[in-house]
Amino acid sequence: MHRLVLLLAALPLVAQTSWFQPSMLEQPAIKKAYASIDARKDGIIDEWIKLIETPAPSGKEQVRARYIKAEMEKIGLTDIRTDDLFNVSGVRKGTGGGPTVVFAAHTDTVFPEGTNLKVKREGDILRAPGSGDDTSNLMATLEMFRALSRGGVQTKGDLIFLASVQEEVGLVGAKHWLETSGYKPDLFVAVDLSSLQLWYGALRIDQFKFIFTSPGAHTLESRGAPSPAKAVAKAINGLYEIPLPPLEPGFGSFKLPTMNVGMLGGGTVVNAVPREAWFTVDLRSTDSPTQDKLETALISTVKAAAEKEGVGFQMERKMGIDYSKAKPREERLKHPLVQTALAASNYFRKPGTPEIMPVDAGANDSNIAVSMGIPAVAVGAVVQSMPHRLEESAEASSIIPGIKSLLAMAVAMTTH
Ligand SMILES: [Zn+2]
Repeated sequence: MHRLVLLLAALPLVAQTSWFQPSMLEQPAIKKAYASIDARKDGIIDEWIKLIETPAPSGKEQVRARYIKAEMEKIGLTDIRTDDLFNVSGVRKGTGGGPTVVFAAHTDTVFPEGTNLKVKREGDILRAPGSGDDTSNLMATLEMFRALSRGGVQTKGDLIFLASVQEEVGLVGAKHWLETSGYKPDLFVAVDLSSLQLWYGALRIDQFKFIFTSPGAHTLESRGAPSPAKAVAKAINGLYEIPLPPLEPGFGSFKLPTMNVGMLGGGTVVNAVPREAWFTVDLRSTDSPTQDKLETALISTVKAAAEKEGVGFQMERKMGIDYSKAKPREERLKHPLVQTALAASNYFRKPGTPEIMPVDAGANDSNIAVSMGIPAVAVGAVVQSMPHRLEESAEASSIIPGIKSLLAMAVAMTTH
């Protein structure tokens, strides 16, 4: 009895509260908005293709950003801003008394300048680099804001459309916007997945570059001399011997926690001990205690290799987010924001596909919100596959229920 009372007290949100009700879709304004989405199907897909074919490598999103800004103006959003990084945001004012909810989609792609972005249409499939991640969701979010206006849908809370930049190079744009825009959103939705996925957490991602140095020596004088190359070899061997905790369930093909050496290099000539040799490590897990433990083991292993070899040692931290303010897993999962996103995603999901299960992961703009303690979720509006590959593709017609799903979420989250 006492235990039950304590449990209830510890979970004031009560399990599985969703603000989404299918009956809300019968409201005339929402029906009108939905009819306007159906009526524009071909136009939406054509505009999406145009956006895919507009290059936007991270840091060079200006053309897409200007396009989104111009479209926000046409919709009549207020407080439309472009910040110093080219994040674009605009507000759809509510009638008052509801939470402020951000819908964020990123304009950048991982593909460098010069990549052939021409979309190949194979029936209902659009194939091109960046077709899914995140151009599909950028298009869907833009159309969702348009449809709200066409339907004359009123919400209590404000809705903010954030077209973020440099997501792919460390969530740079969203971090900058959340820290400097002055907005204090109550809820944050990253539209950056396939519509068959939902993530409510934040993968812990820490990336390092380890550098070993020595005075160098001719090969003829190298025998027994300290060698940065040997230190790299010993360190890499050592780090792959660090025991990893058992696999986290529920991640499909993703095997977590994990540590990966992605780049290595050093030396300038064949016949000398390198003056410098280095490698990088990408360390990922789902929670901070595990991450901290692995990070400590990693750094001490690499340092020990340097000491044993008698070479100089430097470490550069390439990426790391402080998650000390993040809410615990249960609290994040049970938050109505996540349950609402889950209910709507499942209501609108492609027929014949398995039920969408929430996963405690995240490697997108919602990570920043999670790290700040803002309730956050990541969803998607389109069935898509092979992100970050040249063969990336998306199902064109899936964007229509995807936009409707986003719209249902937006209304439910701001008006409950
Ligand atoms: Zn993305």
